[in-house]
Parts: sequence; C-alpha cells; structure tokens
Amino acid sequence: MKLANYLSASWQTGAGEGQTLFDPVTGEALVSVSADGLDLGAALDFARQTGGPALRALSYAERGALLGKIAELLQSKRADYLDISLRNLGASESDASADVDGAIFTLKSYARAARALGDARHLKDGAPVPLAKTDIFQGQHFLLPQTGVAIFINAFNFPAWGLWEKAAPAFLSGMPVLVKPATPTAWLTQRMVEDVVNAGLLPDGALSIVCGGARDLLDHVAETDVLSFTGSADTARRMRTHPSVVAASIRVNIEADSVNSAILGPDAAPGSAEFDLMVKEVVREMTVKAGQKCTAIRRILAPAATVRALGEAIAAKLSKISVGNPRSEGVRMGPLVSKAQQAAAFAGIAALKEECDVIFGGDPAAFTPVDADPAVAAFVPPTLLYCAAGLAAKKVHDTEVFGPVATLIPYTDTMDAIAIARRGKGSLVASVYSADSAFLGELVPAIGDLHGRILVVNGSIGNQHTGHGNVMPTCLHGGPGRAGGGEELGGLRALLMYHRRFVVQGDPALLAQLSTNSADAALLTA
Ligand code: NAP
Repeated sequence: MKLANYLSASWQTGAGEGQTLFDPVTGEALVSVSADGLDLGAALDFARQTGGPALRALSYAERGALLGKIAELLQSKRADYLDISLRNLGASESDASADVDGAIFTLKSYARAARALGDARHLKDGAPVPLAKTDIFQGQHFLLPQTGVAIFINAFNFPAWGLWEKAAPAFLSGMPVLVKPATPTAWLTQRMVEDVVNAGLLPDGALSIVCGGARDLLDHVAETDVLSFTGSADTARRMRTHPSVVAASIRVNIEADSVNSAILGPDAAPGSAEFDLMVKEVVREMTVKAGQKCTAIRRILAPAATVRALGEAIAAKLSKISVGNPRSEGVRMGPLVSKAQQAAAFAGIAALKEECDVIFGGDPAAFTPVDADPAVAAFVPPTLLYCAAGLAAKKVHDTEVFGPVATLIPYTDTMDAIAIARRGKGSLVASVYSADSAFLGELVPAIGDLHGRILVVNGSIGNQHTGHGNVMPTCLHGGPGRAGGGEELGGLRALLMYHRRFVVQGDPALLAQLSTNSADAALLTA
C-alpha cells in the first residue's frame, strides 16, 4: 500500500514505486511512500491562502480548543498508533508511549496554556514608547502571527511527538502546518494526519503532509514561512544554506544532534543516593527507544576515583536488560528503526573503540537478540565504553552514535568537568547528580550558555525528577552550537517563533485602536 499525501486539501498519491518502509524486527515490507510528481509549491500556496486566514479568524482560546480536540481524537486512536509504532519502529509499548503519549500530553498542555490568551488574535509587546516631547506621538510594539506556512522537516525517531510538539504552538499562533516526516517511519505521522483530517477538526489547508523525499520542498518557501527542522547536523547545514531559504530570509529553527553529558558530582560516592540515581538514569537513557533520542546521554562524566565503580554499576544493570523482539515476553529493549541506522551505529561504535575500552557490549558478533533473526533485524547491543583520555580525546566528544551507546569519561576536578561538558560544543541537555552546592554553584553557570537544559538531581528530589531525556512542554527544548541553535517549547514562549514583532509609530488613539483584540505578550513568559 502506498501512503497518500494530503496537499491542497486533497489526498494525492506520489508517482512511481516510491520507497518502502520496513519492520525493523522481521524485515517485513509494510507500506511505501512517494512524493514524486506532486505540486508542493501549489500546496504551500493553498495553505497560505486558505488554511492561514481560517486559523487566524479564530482567537487564541478557540485555537487552543482545537488542540484539545486533536488530543482527544489521538487519545481515542492510541491503540492503532502503538501498533504502527511496534511494526514500523520496533517500539515496545513504553517506547511507543514516549512518542504517542508525549504528543498527546504536549497538545493538552498547549490547549490549557491557550486559555491565558483568551479572545485575543494578536499580541501587544510592552508599553507605549514616548517619541515626542508630549504624549502626542508614541511607538507601540506588537507581535503578529506570521501569514505563511510552518514547514516541519522531521527526524525518524519521534514520528508522533515530532509533529505535534511543533504543530501545537504553530496552530495556536494561527499558522498552517505542512509536515514532511522522515521516510523510514513516516507511517505513524501520516496516519495521525489522516485521522485528524478525516475528523474534520481543522479548516482546509491548516494541515498538510508530504511523505517521501520531497527534495524540492524548500524551493517553494516564501518570506512569511517558518522552517523547523529536526535531524542530523549535516542535513541541518543543507537546510540553513538552501538558496531559497537564504533568499527569503525565512525564520529557521534547527534541532540537531548533540553529545549530551551526565555528570556525577565529587560528593556522590558509591552507595550515595546521587550515585544510585545516576546509574538508574544512565541505564534508562541508554535503553529507552534503544538510545534513539536526541537528548540521550552519550558521555558519562565522573571523578577519576569513582568512574570505575560507576561503570561496574551501570554494566551490572545493563546485563539484566533483555534485548530483542518487543512482542516477546520480558524484552526490555527493541531494535533501531532500520538496517541503515544499525550500520551507522556499528560504524560509530567502531570509531569510538579506536580511543575507548569496552566495559559492556560493543561486539555485534557476540550478541543474539531474543526472538529475532539478526540477518534481517536492526538490533544493536547496549554498549558502555570507557575513554581514559578525557578532554584530550576527540571522537568521543564529536561522535553521536544514535543508539544504545554511551562512554564513561573520568574528570580530575570541577574545571576539567566543565571543560569536558563544554567540549560537546553545544548540547541539548546535561544532567548533574550531586548535593554539593559549591560544586553545583560553579558548574551549572559555567556550562549554561552551551546547554538548552540542565537537570540537577539530588537525593531529596529522588525519583520525582522528570528525566534527563524527557522533554517537558513547559520547559525549553533546544540547544546552541552543535545542537542546532534552536528553541522549541518552553510553554507559550514557543509562540514567538510563529509571530513577527513590529512597531507602529503614531498617535495614541491609533495605537489604542490597534491594541484592541490583543493580549499582553508578557503572558508568553509568565
Ligand atoms: P536526517 O537524515 O538529517 O533527516 C532528517 C529529515 O531531513 C528527514 O525528514 C529527511 O528526509 C529530511 N531531509 C534530508 N535531506 C533533505 C533535503 N535535501 N530536503 C528536504 N528534506 C531532507 O536525520 P534523521 O536520521 O531522520 O534523524 C536522526 C538525527 O536527528 C539524529 O542525529 C538526532 O540527534 C537528531 N534529532 C534531533 C532532535 C532534536 O530535537 N534536537 C530530535 C530528534 C532527532 P528523508 O527521511 O526522506 O531522507
């Protein structure tokens, strides 16, 4: 079956045989996708001219109510989505939940947050600015929803959440969405869009999808569009420098890969609550979604005196994790999403082994998945490495192996830990396990500018933290430098990307008139 694309409010099938999507456990061919021969320029025009105005005729509160209805619909079809996740991503129920329930949770969060903006249709930014000796001439800043299309080019690892965490703030802002999911896992995104379209929840042109290569998509961008890309740093560079993107100066948000760290404090000796919490979190991050999360822990920093004990504790827990077909009883970790991803992970492990010792796993030949044929399945064994070279190493700081792979790195003192964390050259997240306030007071501000989020866990928080890799809709997601330099979520802050600031200079009566139907932009950061 070839999946249909939804463009210009009609279902359209791409030409040719298309690309096939596979079950990464059994190798079974599932569906195919093609974007060949489709008029993407016309689809973007239709969304700008039809979907955008219809959405912007609604207030923020009304658009928030739409998000609530989408969340309810997706909730009612959750079982279908878990089934597609199992078949196309090899995802266990809990791995699929991170994606599907994460999407629904994020939509609900924005539906709730929208109420604060009420009946407004645009935002007033700050107080009037005096521009003359009397009040007769003033300036007023506004934030207006952009009138183009929010174009999402997404990664393969979160086909559900990846769409809705971006679409929620875009719809709430009044922008129509066109999504291009990553080809290997496009099925789940396509099914969700199909369900929302068939339920008639959104105006025509508000939501479009193209599955498959769609390599000419960016040729058609216009100055009012927004491009939000999630994927590898290499592709991100191509997006950012695409001639049409550059020519139209459109706003571009990049969420790219990242070599995130987890840092054990000098106070966290074996047996301490912080030590145990870090062991648990590292194992969770390595194995949830088989490590296919942009936020997963890749580098594990620990004081030189503790690093071996930490490695042993992590390896002991990894040894209890059963890896194989998620349909089998007791299996805790599934495969990567494709043979191509498996090959890339094996190449990454081989590169890291040039400067690391293997503490656990690391040898594909010595590994047998439960209830699966290694010849067709895309499994990668959980692999824990140790890099004695610390800051002087290269590959371990530069290579994101997108799988269940992490490397222990010893540090000598706080300055060394800071330098190693910063050597990631910009990460989405770092987590720190310590109750030493002097250490935290030095470390956290010293790495803050190169991280989007820092999770600090101590014994008093215990298991109540939201997790190193979990992205909360109310907190910022995105990181500087290598991580792409983007910003997503953070509650209503996310609406800023889909609005444009402008200032009107005129008489106070005009400014008051233009302020009708506006909400205070300060609410975005309240
Ligand atoms: P990718 O190979 O860079 O692909 C990402 C997307 O770009 C896919 O939809 C791909 O389409 C599309 N694409 C590639 N070249 C294109 C072009 N010339 N024109 C239009 N679209 C193009 O990344 P991936 O392998 O899917 O995802 C894994 C990476 O994403 C990892 O490095 C991970 O760290 C990163 N990631 C980051 C975040 C974050 O929030 N920071 C979240 C998830 C993943 P096709 O599939 O059709 O090639």
